Amino acid sequence: MKIVSINAGSSSLKFSLFEMKEEEVIATGLFERIGMDGSCYQIKYNGQVIQEEVELLSHTEAVKVLLDKLIVLEIIHSMDEIKGVGHRIVHGVDRYQDSVLINDKILHDLEDIKSFAPLHNPGAIMGIKAFKEVLPDVVSVGVFDTAFHQTMKEETFLYGVPYRWYQDYGVRKYGFHGTSHKYIALTMKDLLKKDNFKLISCHIGNGGSICAIDNMKCVDTSMGFTPLAGIMMGTRSGDVDPSIIPYVMEKEGKNASEIIDDLNKNSGVLGLSEYSNDLRDLVDACNEGNERAILTKNKYVRRIVDYIAQYYVLLNGADVIAFTAGVGENNIVIRREICEKLSCLGVKIDLDKNQTRGEIQKISTDDSSIAVYVIPANEELMIARETLKFMNR
Ligand code: ADP
Repeated sequence: MKIVSINAGSSSLKFSLFEMKEEEVIATGLFERIGMDGSCYQIKYNGQVIQEEVELLSHTEAVKVLLDKLIVLEIIHSMDEIKGVGHRIVHGVDRYQDSVLINDKILHDLEDIKSFAPLHNPGAIMGIKAFKEVLPDVVSVGVFDTAFHQTMKEETFLYGVPYRWYQDYGVRKYGFHGTSHKYIALTMKDLLKKDNFKLISCHIGNGGSICAIDNMKCVDTSMGFTPLAGIMMGTRSGDVDPSIIPYVMEKEGKNASEIIDDLNKNSGVLGLSEYSNDLRDLVDACNEGNERAILTKNKYVRRIVDYIAQYYVLLNGADVIAFTAGVGENNIVIRREICEKLSCLGVKIDLDKNQTRGEIQKISTDDSSIAVYVIPANEELMIARETLKFMNR
C-alpha cells in the first residue's frame, strides 16, 4: 500500500512516497517557490533525479503536478494506488496527544491554533487542503511535532510566570521535533529489544533539541513555547535572558518582532561566529585556527552538554544517548567533543567507531557507563507509520 509523507511550508512541499508496511522509499522530492517566480520541482526515484521549472501558483497545483509526474514517470500507475497521506504539522498545542485523522472539524481546529506557529502551521494547512482537493477520498492524517511531548508533567511544562498566562493564553513549554525523538526511541527499542530504558535523544541539525525519554515517554525537552528555546542552533539563539529584547530594541530602534527575527535567523552559530551557520564550515574554520569559530564551537558543544547533564539528573541516570539529524549523524568532531565533556559520567566513545556518517552505529566502548548511538533521523517514515495506523483501523 502506498502512503505519502508531506512536509509543507508556506511556499514549499516536500514529499516521500513509501510502500508500506515494507517501509520502502519509492520516490522523494521537493516543490519550491510555490506562488512565486521561478517555481520548480525535483523528484528522485530509482537513482534518477528529475528537475524542472514549472509554474506553481498554489499548493493544489503542486499536488496536481506531483501526481501527474508520478504517473508519467511510471512510479505509480494511477492515483488510486495512493491510500494515505500523512502531513507534518509543527504545532498541535495541548489539544493533540497523538496523530489525528483529518476531517473538516480538525481542519477548522487547526485554523484556530495556527497563531501558535505562524511560520509553520499555515503551510501545513495549505498542504492538507491541496491533497483534500485533489484526492478527496484518501485517508489524511496529521502528525504533530508537539504530540510526543504531551506526556511532560505540569511542573515541567509550566514557566515561572503568572499562572493565568498559561490559563488564558496557553503560555507553556510545548516542545518540538517530537516525531523525530519518537522515531529514535522506537529505533532504540528495536535495537535493545526492550522498552524500559532511559534515553537522551539529541536531534541536532540546523534546528536542534534534546529530549529526555523514560519508558518510551517524553519527560522533558529543550525547546519551549516555540522552537527558539533550548540549545544554541544554526541560526537560533536558544535560551536567552528575555530582558535582552527591550534593551536591544532601544539600542537598534527595532520592534519586538524584528528582535525575535534576529534571535531566530541571525543568532546561534551564525550570529556568534559571524562566519556560517553550517557546522561543517565552522569545524573547518576551527582547524584553520579561527578563534571566533573555536569560541562558537565550544559554546555550541557546551549548550548540548548542559542539557544532557540536566536530563541525566532528571532521569536519575541514563542508558543511552542517541545522536541524530545533520550534525548528530555526520559531525564526528562535535560528537567526540560532546562525549569527552561527559566523561565524568563514565561516557567513553570508541574513536574509530565514531568515524561514521549517516548510519546506525554504536559509538561507545563496551565499558562506557552509557551506550552512545548514532541513529539517522527519519521523520518521513515516522509520518508514514502513523498514517498506516489509521489505515488499519
Ligand atoms: P535541518 O534542521 O534544517 O533539517 P539538518 O538536519 O540538515 O538541518 O542539519 C544541518 C546541519 O547538518 C549543518 O550544520 C551541516 O553541517 C550538518 N550536516 C549535514 N550533512 C552533513 C555531512 N554530510 N557531514 C557533516 N555535516 C553535515
